[in-house]
Amino acid sequence: MQYNIRINKDTEKAGNGCVADSLPDSVCILGSTGSVGRQAIDVARTQGIRVEFICSGHDIKTLEEQVREFHPRFCAVSDESKAKDLATRIFDTDTKVFSGTDGITEAISESKSSVAVNSILGEAGLVPTLAVIKSKKRLALANKESLVIAGDIVMRNARENNVEILPVDSEHSAIFQSLGKAPKDTVKRILLTASGGPFFGYDREELKKVTLEETLSHPTWNMGKKITVDSATMMNKGFEVIEAHHLFDVDVSKIQVLVHRESILHSAVEYIDNAVIAQLGVPDMRLCIQYAITYPKRVFGNVKPLDLFSVGKLTFAEPDMNSFPLLALAYKASALGGAVPAVMNAANEVAVSSFLASEIPFCRISEIVEGVVLNMEYAKKYESLDDIIASDREARRMAKNLLKLSPQ
Ligand code: MN
Repeated sequence: MQYNIRINKDTEKAGNGCVADSLPDSVCILGSTGSVGRQAIDVARTQGIRVEFICSGHDIKTLEEQVREFHPRFCAVSDESKAKDLATRIFDTDTKVFSGTDGITEAISESKSSVAVNSILGEAGLVPTLAVIKSKKRLALANKESLVIAGDIVMRNARENNVEILPVDSEHSAIFQSLGKAPKDTVKRILLTASGGPFFGYDREELKKVTLEETLSHPTWNMGKKITVDSATMMNKGFEVIEAHHLFDVDVSKIQVLVHRESILHSAVEYIDNAVIAQLGVPDMRLCIQYAITYPKRVFGNVKPLDLFSVGKLTFAEPDMNSFPLLALAYKASALGGAVPAVMNAANEVAVSSFLASEIPFCRISEIVEGVVLNMEYAKKYESLDDIIASDREARRMAKNLLKLSPQ
């Protein structure tokens, strides 16, 4: 269904490429072929917002379909040879094709959009995040790794460039909505909800027997494979603790994770007077993507209404840090600081892709990530972007070495 909601289309834009009263004329969608990217495309389609730039790592088939539907000015593919293939496939269109990370940053700076959604997967999203900030576009951020790896640098750049970062992650969108314009010193705690993944209630012995297939069947959210595994190990929730710490400038000791199986209450803020303000809704990323693009406006969309009668009850439980040590590790990595969270993320990316290739069992993921972090605690002294990226590479090498020692 197409809604005609584009009132005040000509209202003046606020400075720095921020959206004032109107919806943006166009958006850039980075990582447009992934799970969140495709949902962002759906939001643009529903809201009638032009898509100016799309990019993908290597999925040129989906990219071609998106080019033919949206006629973006630019598109880019990280993989250089795939970029050539795409250029051949869409030679009949007016879309200009860029390649590699340099191509992605070039297209970001050339684009006139006031908003960019970054839904690139993993560490690859960091450089584009910094490019969006430099181009002074609003950043609708789904790539949580940008903040896990280099949160201090990303937030500092955003402040210096007067750029808004709006969370697309459902929990952080809920926190953002629950915070409103509340003064920071009135916030007591962040209550960050977690679905608990497919293995909630399992002990370590039971986790030793789980399969790849069981891991990929998430109870409530429909997401890409990498984040579904991260959700099953609760590494994802650990990343989200660090993400919330940077986005909202709250110490990790004030971020409490609650397992909430229904995924209806998407997170909450507890204030100093003990009032708790939460945001609820059906689990649908499009609501978060849409709000990050249209904020401060709320508009009609395709998201289903929440029927609390059919939900019936909402439950909350403490997370089990023994069964899911990566959640505890994220608190520790954040406290150590420097490049340690980047090291943790890099080791996790390597371990998860090995698990997805059926090379290692589920429990080996956390062992490898813990092992690499333990060996690289010295990375806490690194703060520059170059040192952080070097630590990421070192952690990947170390994780691969540990994988070789894994029982087959
Ligand atoms: Mn999330």
